[in-house]
Amino acid sequence: MTAVSVNADPVGQGTMSAAVFHGPGDVRLEQVPVPDIGRDEVLVRVAANTICGTDLRILRGEKTRGVRRPSVLGHEFAGTVAAAGADAGGFAEGDPVAMAPVVPCLRCVHCRNDRENVCADRRAMGYEFDGAIAEYVRIPAAAIAAGNLFHVDADLPLEQLALAEPLACCVNGFGRSAVRPGDTVVVMGAGPIGLLHTQLAVNAGASRVVVSDLSPSRLRVAGELGATTTVDVSERDLLDVVHQQTGGVGADASLVCIGIPSLVDEAVRLTRKGGSVNIFAGLAGEGVSQVSANEIHYRELVVTGTSAMRRRDYEMALRLIETGAVDVGRLLTHRVPLSDAAEAFELAGSGDGLKVAIVP
Ligand SMILES: [Zn+2]
Ligand SMILES: [Zn+2]
Repeated sequence: MTAVSVNADPVGQGTMSAAVFHGPGDVRLEQVPVPDIGRDEVLVRVAANTICGTDLRILRGEKTRGVRRPSVLGHEFAGTVAAAGADAGGFAEGDPVAMAPVVPCLRCVHCRNDRENVCADRRAMGYEFDGAIAEYVRIPAAAIAAGNLFHVDADLPLEQLALAEPLACCVNGFGRSAVRPGDTVVVMGAGPIGLLHTQLAVNAGASRVVVSDLSPSRLRVAGELGATTTVDVSERDLLDVVHQQTGGVGADASLVCIGIPSLVDEAVRLTRKGGSVNIFAGLAGEGVSQVSANEIHYRELVVTGTSAMRRRDYEMALRLIETGAVDVGRLLTHRVPLSDAAEAFELAGSGDGLKVAIVP
């Protein structure tokens, strides 16, 4: 760590545009100084930052933990190295890079137990550190030292690599369900997260991937990405469909990918004895859900949760994108210039389309 800047104005242009968060409902495009970097830090020229549901929760004032104001939001990004400090080993100007945004302490009990994603002293881009809804973003020394910044394949559009972050969270969550070839997997929700889980289930060899949602257009995309059955829950009962398809047995694994608390009970009821339920989505409000604990008890269900990602989940996500095993391009429905960041947030919040990328 270095307190003294050794590389002030590393790109020699003084100021940059950034979308600065001042409080709920208040994001302003401002000219701010280009971040200084220390000897062990890297400055990244942002190619794209995709908007996350969490950003929207911050903007609505629903999420406040770790959020500073004023600050720059944005934790799903990729770009190229604009400048690298002398001791920021392995990075050179022009390198395409992407970043796992959760910087773990590597020392706490959670880090030592393979749970760096829920590190007690975690710091994250877009929260404790300024994020990437800006022209440039500083990659702090702790992130460089922990290996959070990754070299990426130069042939892929960098906006697709920004989606390694949500995919990494899905890799983390999906891993808790131990899906095996031939399984029946239920994905509740066909938003970006549900569509990524759908592809992971197909890749894992699931024989049936049942995806539910209220949006016909999202369900259509789920079908294109490998869902074997799509269920519009305004027309059909998901439990009925799952029972029909499994001879009344239930799904091997179900994944809750929408933050509606009552869906947890539904997931519990449509999962077979000994099967697994992953509560992937953060649930609305206090997240209180009425669930029959006896269903979990007598039917020996395994119920897990998921929060964020480990660096290795992120590395796996990059590989899945770079090899084409997961199609993230299909999820990018809107590209909005940084100058229209406020509109980009509105668009992302409207539910039209899937992922919105802010492109400086
Ligand atoms: Zn995210
Ligand atoms: Zn830790």
